[in-house]
Amino acid sequence: MRLAESISRLGTETAFEVLVRARALEAAGREIVHLEIGEPDFPTPPHIVEAGQRALAEGWTRYGPSAGLPELREAIASHISRTRNVGVRAENVCVVPGGKPIMFFSMIALLEPGDEVIYPNPGFPIYESMIRFMDAKPVAIPLVEDRGFSVDLDRLAGSLSDKTKMVILISPGNPTGGVIPQADLVRMAELFRERDLMILSDEIYSEIWYEDRPSSIASLDGMLEKTIILDGFSKTYAMTGWRLGYGVMPVWLAEAVARLMVNSNSCTASFTQRAGLAALIGPQDSVKTMVGELEKRRNAIVQGLNEIPGFRSATPAGAFYAFPNVAGTGIPCAELADLLLTEAGVACVRGTSFGEHGDGHVRFSYANSLENIEKAIDNIRQLSERWA
Ligand code: PMP
Repeated sequence: MRLAESISRLGTETAFEVLVRARALEAAGREIVHLEIGEPDFPTPPHIVEAGQRALAEGWTRYGPSAGLPELREAIASHISRTRNVGVRAENVCVVPGGKPIMFFSMIALLEPGDEVIYPNPGFPIYESMIRFMDAKPVAIPLVEDRGFSVDLDRLAGSLSDKTKMVILISPGNPTGGVIPQADLVRMAELFRERDLMILSDEIYSEIWYEDRPSSIASLDGMLEKTIILDGFSKTYAMTGWRLGYGVMPVWLAEAVARLMVNSNSCTASFTQRAGLAALIGPQDSVKTMVGELEKRRNAIVQGLNEIPGFRSATPAGAFYAFPNVAGTGIPCAELADLLLTEAGVACVRGTSFGEHGDGHVRFSYANSLENIEKAIDNIRQLSERWA
């Protein structure tokens, strides 16, 4: 028996592979600082955990509506309406197990073989994986380091064609931490307005920013009906293992995504959704505290990296990743990431795991303690004698 051909087109997330290697080294007695996985190291805030426990005790242990519990869809609609300055209703919301399924479901719902999808590169590897799985054509749009890792707008304009069915945007970005400036979004909206395409706007890091709140393209004139906002609870509320996310989109598409939910998951876990409701309507100070802590770590890692010969790091405006340019070391980034793991005990991800335009970079997730970040920087500094 052979696997379906489409399975051979699926990619993966290298961060998980690095984690397995790092764990193997730890099992052999090595000390490793984990800067590979993109996951807040904070616990889920206690009031959210309690809401989940209460929900279990109250019997939220059965199937629910496939698009999500009505009260959670309402709360999400008002959260998105307020933070993105748009008017959306519960009917526009589909609750799913994590942010990732929104990529999967929106592509299944929209793409035909041969359709073109423009996506950011370096970018989250699952975009290209899913585009290829759908037998659609991935059209990479390079992010530009000197533009705070926003897109090259001329390249974007030149990449649009009659076959462009979807454009993927992400802000704040993974792996770069870049935020797309408002002026760029305005220009993009001009490019997209008259076209028959949908924008998948990955806003999973929407609440993790350090200077100005990132804007959503959905808030610009004529864009709401063309946009799928992907967001969720994994990062904002440190709930990666709860599996809770959502998409906000036009009703015709939300209905298709709900039908995909009936055909796959039936629904998202009911008690998890009750916890998510408590997260959205409850106090937000835990988010503020977490982002404040992440900002200190960002400053520490960027300063530390910039003192290492051959490394040059921009200051990320959001998310919790530093994506330094390491071309100055003279070592190819895959080899360098390997050296950092095996020789310095620092787990990170090579830039090319995020696409060819990630070459010459490595990604560090700084969702780790200041103490561990300092240890990692010390270890890398010692190792740098090899290339300095
Ligand atoms: N988008 C991006 C850019 C991400 O980095 C992640 C998580 N690594 C997700 C979406 C998916 O998040 P979830 O765990 O909620 O599926």
